[in-house]
Amino acid sequence: MPTDFSRTRDLFDLPEGVLYLDGNSLGPLPRSAAARVQRTITEEWGQMLITGWNKAGWMDLPTRIGDRIARLLGAEPGHVVLGDTLSIKVYQALASALEMTPGKRVILSDTGNFPSDLYMAEGLCRTLGESYTLKTVAPEEVADALDDTVAVLMLTEVDYRTGRRHDMPALTAKAHAVGALAVWDLAHSAGATDVKVAEGGADFAVGCTYKYLNSGPGGPAFIYVAPRHAEVARPALSGWLGHEAPFAFNLDYRPGRGIERMRVGTPPVLQLAALDAALDAWDGVEIADLRARSLELTDAFIAGVEASCPTLTLATPREHRWRGSQVSFRHPEGYAIMQALIARGVIGDFRAPDIIRFGFTPLFIGLDEVTAAVAILAEVMATDAWDRPEFKTRAKVT
Ligand SMILES: *Cc1c(COP(=O)(O)O)cnc(C)c1O
Repeated sequence: MPTDFSRTRDLFDLPEGVLYLDGNSLGPLPRSAAARVQRTITEEWGQMLITGWNKAGWMDLPTRIGDRIARLLGAEPGHVVLGDTLSIKVYQALASALEMTPGKRVILSDTGNFPSDLYMAEGLCRTLGESYTLKTVAPEEVADALDDTVAVLMLTEVDYRTGRRHDMPALTAKAHAVGALAVWDLAHSAGATDVKVAEGGADFAVGCTYKYLNSGPGGPAFIYVAPRHAEVARPALSGWLGHEAPFAFNLDYRPGRGIERMRVGTPPVLQLAALDAALDAWDGVEIADLRARSLELTDAFIAGVEASCPTLTLATPREHRWRGSQVSFRHPEGYAIMQALIARGVIGDFRAPDIIRFGFTPLFIGLDEVTAAVAILAEVMATDAWDRPEFKTRAKVT
């Protein structure tokens, strides 16, 4: 049965008069999440107190929800776990992967990667010692830069600024051919594209849940470890909840079984409750339908904006195979343009130095919203409505 996106749209609580094209940065509130968190607070925390860890199943949330996310990633069930933030999961995956490629000391990434991923890699290299290095090349040059010095290829599948999508199966195969492992960041893929980690051969994958998966601000991240590495990968962040027997309180660390070892500390139960409720929206959503719908929406937005806004330059690939689920345009006054749009209820965001970015989330955005957003953007550009001092003052979060 084809996915019914009018059903999923009714599951979200969007404010009146807002065209929300920023679900790629912070997903909106699913109606059921507020009630679910409220229940977790009053009935579980309030009434069960510490017995909630067992009685309400809090301790199993990270792996139980991991299985729900695995379906969206094309991952094997039992190999995804939730916890911490994405930056930390990047560090964890990298550290394990480097240890599994002894004798090689180069992490290869691209200049389009999200800075936090690069910062975490640099920090890890510094901790490991002088000879570990992070090398970055342009996104289009990654394949050619993969040589036998590379220990780990670390990429974000969809570029947070341009929306350009890497070819995961091809680059992973090339990495494996030179004896490297591949760590994929799915921050802009999970819940946005037809990502297939198992088929694509990923060794490790990580991502966040507050973007396309709608877990709310500060929601936990996820990590996937390929089944072939599950009992081999050693956790660098060896916290007690990744231990084989946390409540034996042994003085020595022994990694837990499989993906359990990628847990670190106490899970964020309230955020996990919100995420669990948010994932209900994905029941009945076929990922192939999601991808087709996303391409239809981004095609329509590109066509509409290019026909009406000649001074905006498309930064997102036109070819479907290279496109994620966002559309970005360049303009030197991008920041002010985005502020003028937000003042008119069209919420996207700005990424330095000159990118205005719009996320397309089929669960709650349809062609009507695309048409309406194009018309407002066209009006802002045709009248220079952005050219006012109040739109040029930069806020802390852009
Ligand atoms: C959003 C995003 C992050 C954010 O990391 P947090 O630790 O969750 O703040 C990291 N990497 C990428 C690629 C992202 O898109």
